[in-house]
Amino acid sequence: MHKEHVYIGVGSNLGDSYETVREAFDALNELPYTRLLTSSSLYSSKPMGPQNQPDYVNAVSLIETGLEPEELLTLLQDIELNFGRERKGERWGARTLDLDILMFGSKQISTETLTVPHIGMAQREFVMVPLFEIAQTMVMPDGKPISQWVAKCSLDGLKRLRPSN
Ligand code: ATP
Ligand code: MG
Ligand code: MG
Repeated sequence: MHKEHVYIGVGSNLGDSYETVREAFDALNELPYTRLLTSSSLYSSKPMGPQNQPDYVNAVSLIETGLEPEELLTLLQDIELNFGRERKGERWGARTLDLDILMFGSKQISTETLTVPHIGMAQREFVMVPLFEIAQTMVMPDGKPISQWVAKCSLDGLKRLRPSN
């Protein structure tokens, strides 16, 4: 079966977010035709958008999958729901778990439900810093090395968390 390398952005700011993000790594590894190759450290970050919500815990995982992009999106949304995610309609509001497809091999996808590479990723230090940790030599969709992007990132409000065990 043909398999692709896919980077997933993981975020949580409700409940025990540190634990949720670690359990989300396990859930990714349990997806059909999929295995988890590596995950970044966990980071804490200030919320984007509405500020009246708790800080986030963020990380990035690399999986290898035989799933099609739309199938993967549906299964990621199932995992979000299993972790108690409620969709309240407020953009960038608080959530127990967010799983975004950052990059899917070298595919470019633009449908009603899926935009890949993820549209906001290059503006988000809580994505780019953990991504850089696990993909230091990556070339970004615009042809520039990730190291250049990260050098320009503002690290305000982003903290690498110490593992709890
Ligand atoms: P953002 O995508 O800006 O980080 P969000 O993660 O809070 O915002 P969600 O509520 O999780 O947004 O998802 C809204 C919709 O985004 C989903 O229903 C999904 O169809 C769509 N979407 C488009 N591209 C992607 C992608 N690359 N990964 C995940 N969802 C995506
Ligand atoms: Mg998101
Ligand atoms: Mg999302």
